Amino acid sequence: MRRALRGLGIALLALLAVLLTRAYALNSQQLPVEAWSPILIDSQRAAQRLSGAIRHRTVSYQDRALLEAAEFERLYRYLEKEYPELHAALEVEAVSDWSRLYRWRGRDPALPPVLLAAHVDVVPAREEGWTHPPFAGVVENGVVWGRGALDDKGSLVAIFEAITALLAADFAPERSVYVALGHDEEQGGDAGALAIARLLEQRGVALDWVLDEGAAVVEGYLPGVEQGFALLGIAEKGSVSIGLELDAPGGHSSAPPRHTAVGELAEALVALENSPLPGSFDGVTGTFLDALAPELPLPLRVVLANRWLFAPALERFFSSMPPLDAMLRTTTAVTIFNGGVKNNVLPQHARAVVNFRIHPNDRIETVAEHVRRVVDNEAVRIEVGAATPPRNPSGVSPLEGAAYTTLAKSIRCVFPEAAVLPFLVVGGTDGRHYAGLTSRVYRFLPFRIHPEAIEMLHGTDERVGAGNLVHAARFYAELLRRAAGPAQPSSR
Ligand SMILES: [Zn+2]
Repeated sequence: MRRALRGLGIALLALLAVLLTRAYALNSQQLPVEAWSPILIDSQRAAQRLSGAIRHRTVSYQDRALLEAAEFERLYRYLEKEYPELHAALEVEAVSDWSRLYRWRGRDPALPPVLLAAHVDVVPAREEGWTHPPFAGVVENGVVWGRGALDDKGSLVAIFEAITALLAADFAPERSVYVALGHDEEQGGDAGALAIARLLEQRGVALDWVLDEGAAVVEGYLPGVEQGFALLGIAEKGSVSIGLELDAPGGHSSAPPRHTAVGELAEALVALENSPLPGSFDGVTGTFLDALAPELPLPLRVVLANRWLFAPALERFFSSMPPLDAMLRTTTAVTIFNGGVKNNVLPQHARAVVNFRIHPNDRIETVAEHVRRVVDNEAVRIEVGAATPPRNPSGVSPLEGAAYTTLAKSIRCVFPEAAVLPFLVVGGTDGRHYAGLTSRVYRFLPFRIHPEAIEMLHGTDERVGAGNLVHAARFYAELLRRAAGPAQPSSR
């Protein structure tokens, strides 16, 4: 007995030694913060220009026919007036009427160009609940309020401020720089970004890399962890909406069957909610955790460094928090349910829609197969791609090579407090449309955003501080200096 206990003790000590060794063996992937000189940006002016951009109601409505063309036209004229140097130095062309493609011609045509993407459209905003009206562009105590302040007119203005400042500093890019402004990102980007990508493809352009909006610089991302993180998107999830429909004979509610059409469909939906698609720490999620682990306090590092042992516990922990759960798996959200017409009439029809955000480990077909298996009811008709066409997850952009390094270094310069983490963007961006032009599509919104403020992006009181805007502009300027400046060798 004593010998057995001793054996167990030794085994536990050995296990502890293994766990700690693995935790200590993790080296931080963070690149050192390099010496740099931030470019001069006038914060008040940048804030005023953003305020003006917000005042143009370039709204993407569900119904495309409602597009207010004059607002888009006026926004572009406003930008021409506010950024005369940029419009004198860059070529600009209209694509699909309301999107714009800018080209800052580089001195060496042999170098593959880079592309910065932003979108000029915004989601609708109801006036109620806002501290300042969503399209008034109020600037108060250095904060710019309004729809699009962050998503995505903030990026647009920051990119334009950066280029204007670089022009003032006599910077001439070696490689060409494109700026692509889509006008329908909030509707999927098929008319805007996709048309721009096709145009470039027709012209035989191969890009070095693309940077679009995406995740941001966050604090308090993990409970109990103060370290800030710059979440640099290397992939984005796909999306498929699956419609579930059921017919039933109907009749009077006084002599009902055990399950009406509504009850039967509800059962299928509850089964789907209770059987999420399996999570995985492989692929892009593993890449994220490998970068995250060395930045954490020891106990957490031990857990992340030993996923072979802690995977079940870790999965439970991740699953309890929706933003982390979304990193781990294809998510399931029942979004629409309709059925029944009258209190005392048995429903003859019930219909629901479930929206799945597809992890790069899954595919549209995997999700459809999962739904058929879990619902397991031949009476339920399943429609893959209800109302919106489904899309598979994007490819995963590499961490190796100059593009990622240049992005990460530029982030480290401007946001030295934040550790750069390769990230899976859970929403959709225009970035995916450029996949045919380069395998290096990255997604990053260079703003500090508190996790609690994330809801304001498509919700109420969207706003950004002028200081934040200056940092974003400095980031884009630093990125272009490094990626397109003369000192940088070409990256293949
Ligand atoms: Zn956006």
